Amino acid sequence: MEKILEVENLEQKFDLSTGVLGKFKFKKGRLVKEERMVNAVNKVSFSIDKGKVFSLVGESGCGKSTTARTVIKLVEPKGGTIKFAGEDITNFTPGQMLKYRKRMQMIFQDPYASLNPRQKIIDIITEPMLFHKVANTKKEAEEKALELLHKVGIRPEQATRYPHQFSGGQRQRIGIARALAVEPEFIIADEPVSALDVSIQAQILNLLMDLKDEFKFSYLFISHDPLHPYTKVLLSAVPKLSGTNLKRSRLVKGEIPSAINLPSGCYFHERCPYARPICKEEMPTEKEVKDNHFVLCHLY
Ligand code: SF4
Repeated sequence: MEKILEVENLEQKFDLSTGVLGKFKFKKGRLVKEERMVNAVNKVSFSIDKGKVFSLVGESGCGKSTTARTVIKLVEPKGGTIKFAGEDITNFTPGQMLKYRKRMQMIFQDPYASLNPRQKIIDIITEPMLFHKVANTKKEAEEKALELLHKVGIRPEQATRYPHQFSGGQRQRIGIARALAVEPEFIIADEPVSALDVSIQAQILNLLMDLKDEFKFSYLFISHDPLHPYTKVLLSAVPKLSGTNLKRSRLVKGEIPSAINLPSGCYFHERCPYARPICKEEMPTEKEVKDNHFVLCHLY
């Protein structure tokens, strides 16, 4: 099947030292250079088929959002390759990325911070349409914008309001309409419902799936894989009304490993309830356990 996105051994690191002097330290009376790097994304590989939804799951701080921002090149990757629709975009400059900006869009986690508070909703939607020439005139852009707003459940008379006049759920709907405005082929939804009330979450998720069916784009959804012990532990932490879950949710203990000094072997071994001696020594390699279903774990 045709791939929309192929990511191989993606790496992202951030330098913790501030300024030139921050890179040096006194050790035994001598000034020595010391680099302190945060390893935010470590050799991540995956690919997404055209028209499919791909989910990326993990706890807070594990690098999911950084992976998303790196594949869309809002931050430059420090290693690995990114191919979009078969083209290697890893080293593209911001200028070269312009034509891809229209094809790949992002729905952000925080609907309160992701909309410009000084712009009316109609302008938030029409501006990218005119920039990317999805509409030729302001009138055409406004007509398209009203149609899109209707699809996401915002009434025409609300289009001239400002973001602060809307609830969190409505703002996220507006963020979705903005992403759709340029008719993208690929959308990254970065935990699009985590900032919303539980009652609104299902509505937004249903809306995203309905729109996918209608517009036929692909998603990178920051959400799971039922094989890996880490995923099982995450799933066991979901509260259930039966009461039996309380015991199982205590499976994982300990802290997220330091992103500066990564542990040896499998990065999860210090907290994994299934860890074996080999997990401490060797990083597991990727194994295909079912058709196009991969897992990185010594248990498989
Ligand atoms: Fe757990 Fe070992 Fe699998 Fe890592 S490789 S997830 S430590 S069983």
